[in-house]
Amino acid sequence: MSEPALRRALVDYSRAMHVAGWVANHDGNLSGRLPAGDRFVCTPTAFSKADVGLDDLLTVGPDGARLAGPHKPFSELAMHLAVYRARPGVGAVVHAHPPFATAFGAAGRPLPHPFLPEAVVSLGAEVPTVPLTAPGKPAVDALAPFIERVDAVLVAGNGVFAWGPDVETAYLRLELVEHMARIAHAASALGGVQPLPADMVTALVKRRRDAGLAAPREGQPAVAAGSASGSSPDVVAEATRRALAGIPGADPARVARLAAEALSARRPART
Ligand SMILES: [Zn+2]
Repeated sequence: MSEPALRRALVDYSRAMHVAGWVANHDGNLSGRLPAGDRFVCTPTAFSKADVGLDDLLTVGPDGARLAGPHKPFSELAMHLAVYRARPGVGAVVHAHPPFATAFGAAGRPLPHPFLPEAVVSLGAEVPTVPLTAPGKPAVDALAPFIERVDAVLVAGNGVFAWGPDVETAYLRLELVEHMARIAHAASALGGVQPLPADMVTALVKRRRDAGLAAPREGQPAVAAGSASGSSPDVVAEATRRALAGIPGADPARVARLAAEALSARRPART
């Protein structure tokens, strides 16, 4: 995407976030990768997303240092840059506090997923919750194990981060996470969402993978930051327990079988 088109998209979706009611005060931030690959355009700190104009955007280097622009970058920029470092194909990262999804994280509840077939094709079989941490480096370290596995995360005590090849795709992923959270919340008054059958999830994940939509390490267990590979059974068991906690009636044995199938899937090319 050209620099003028990227800047236009960042301003348009910044305002869209405000209109959607996903941000208050100075919440939320958006960034995009410039064609050169190692420079980024982002929204300024301390701005309502309703007020960001083309001249307010700034350009930063791979370390977050400001290269151009009249304002300062936002403090969560380090989380965006961690995504860009780990995912060379990612062209944009967006973050907001959409109220329904953010409520799940604030309540310490995982987002019930998957319960809608189309959402599995769009987001994969997992929308994980990144544990609550202090801002800054702890937040980057907490996010790191998820970046190569998914394209959207809920961050406990914060909101939703989503990324994709362009600003529109990243925004639509965030929008879908919030929409699922709204539906799950509405369904909770009716007894809660029903999980999809495991064989359906397996087929949908395969469709997503065949379409080239899967994240590089999708379906693989979380790897602690700095660790080359491998997984701890404890990490898998804990992730499974947390996921099932949000899905009334979930069958742990079926989920375990699905996880084993996903883990044995061949690792796709980086996207
Ligand atoms: Zn935030």
